[in-house]
Formats: sequence, structure tokens, C-alpha cells
Amino acid sequence: MTMVETALGPIDTGALGPTLMHEHIVTRSPGVQENWPHLWDRDEILRIAETKMADLYSRGVRTIVDLTTVDLGRDITLILDVARRSRVHVIVATGVWWMPQRYFTGHGIDAVADLFIRDITQGIGTSGVKAAIIKCATDTAGVSAVIEKVLRASARAQKATGVPISTHTWAAGRVGETQQAIFAQEGVDLRRVIIGHSGDSDDLDYLRGLMERGSTIGMDRFGLDNFLPTEKRVEVLARLCAEGYAGKMVLSHDANCWSDMLSEEAKRRTRPKWHYTHISDDILPALRKAGVKEDQIDQMLVRNPRAIFEARED
Ligand SMILES: [Zn+2]
Repeated sequence: MTMVETALGPIDTGALGPTLMHEHIVTRSPGVQENWPHLWDRDEILRIAETKMADLYSRGVRTIVDLTTVDLGRDITLILDVARRSRVHVIVATGVWWMPQRYFTGHGIDAVADLFIRDITQGIGTSGVKAAIIKCATDTAGVSAVIEKVLRASARAQKATGVPISTHTWAAGRVGETQQAIFAQEGVDLRRVIIGHSGDSDDLDYLRGLMERGSTIGMDRFGLDNFLPTEKRVEVLARLCAEGYAGKMVLSHDANCWSDMLSEEAKRRTRPKWHYTHISDDILPALRKAGVKEDQIDQMLVRNPRAIFEARED
């Protein structure tokens, strides 16, 4: 039996079940609500989150991976409160997204890695909740000095702890290749890496290359048609399944219960399908219609996530 840490403590990886590998409970701008508390109705946000997590459970989803980092306003107390009100397991991340605070510019790679390792081995803050995955990110600006530092720190924390890395990428710029090169330089086994937001790309050579070098790719932004339309996302995924790559892909939305960057109303108006149940309600039926087999869906939703959290070397 292999155990994996969740917000409410370690569970058997066999209990993960259908897992969405890249979601958020709440994303917010660090420091804003602390300074303008009228923008923050914590009870109302908890109520929204409780409903949305129950919707997920009703569709058969049993685990989400919350890839919210310090620069996305990770709030471990809030995550804990949502997890306590939910039957869906929540796996929590450490790491930094592509808007690192100045702290990360001013401190060395190993000092940053030590923070990630602390979250994984000792727990986040005083919560006792241990992170089980490391998030890092490269966006349109590419690998700047501080982004390179975070990528290398993530690699070193991965090697020190054995937990997987999951990335944010700007797929159109093929930055997943650069991330893999940096991780490989640091000695990371690329099978321990998920290159996220790969579903934003229909460049099959790019996607096959990421998987051929060992990594899993995140087909993890269903509902964000501004990056790639749904039909195209389904077509690419079905094609890669037909080519035998179902063992190297995981599914998700990159959605959230609440965000201070986009109101619930604006989400509904501009991204109507960008929510937790789009995959269950719309994408799985579309994939079946496109020839994806039930066993391949099980692989991407259940067996691949489980294997990713089981493959620790310690
Ligand atoms: Zn995300």
C-alpha cells in the first residue's frame, strides 16, 4: 500500500479514484484581501466551494489536485475548511507560479528548494498539511532568471522528496521542452514530471516529444476555448489515444470555485464551460464519440494519477 498526503492527511493511493490533476479551489492576488477585506466574503466563498465540490462528487470525481501556489494566494486554512466540507480528496501543492514575489529573486536556488521541501516534509505553515506535488511555471516571458531559479529549485525538491512536479506552460511557445531540459540537467527523472497546459496545443510533434522523453502531459484546460477550442482539444486527445499515448496523459480544467481575478458572472459570460464538471458532462461523451475507449478514460482519470503519486523512490 502506498500513501499520498492530502489536505486531511495521508490516504492509500488506491482510494484516489477518478482524479482531476490540475484545478484550484481559490486563486487570489496575494495581499489584496488582507488590505481591502471588504473584497473577501470568506463564508460566501466557502458556501460556493462546498456546492462545487459536491457537484464534482456527484459526477464520480474523487480527488482534485489543487495547484495553487504562494503567488496565486494559496490559503491553506481555506483549503482545509473546504476539504472538511467535501467528500472529494484534495491534494495540495507547493511551488511558485509565473508571478514570483520579490523574495524569490533575492534568495538562492537551494534556499527556495528548502521552502518547497519544508512544505512536503514538515507541512505548510502551522497547518500540518503536507504538500504532495511541486508546481512551477513558464509563461510567455520564457525562462527569466527568477523562473529558471524556481524550475531548478523545483527539480532539487523533487529529487530530495520524490514527489512529482507539475508545470504551467505557454504551450504555443513550446516551453515544455525548455522545462524538460532544465529538469534533466538537474538530474530529475522526466517520468516524475507532468508538463501542464499541453492540451492548449495542437502541435502533435511537440506533444509526442514531451511524452517520448518520459513525461506525462496535462490535457488540463478544458473549457478555456480562448487557448484552443474544445473540438480541437477533443480531436488532439482522441488522436493521441489512438496512437497509444493514453498512459501519458491526464485530464483537468484548471478551473476554480472562486477567483479574485474573474468574477463568477464574468466567468459564466466569457468562459461558460470553464467549470469543474465540464469534463464529466461534455468532454467524456465527446471523447467516447471520437473513439476513445472506456479503458483509456479510466487510465487517464484513475490509473495515471495513481501511478504518478506512487512512483516515489524513498
Ligand atoms: Zn492552474
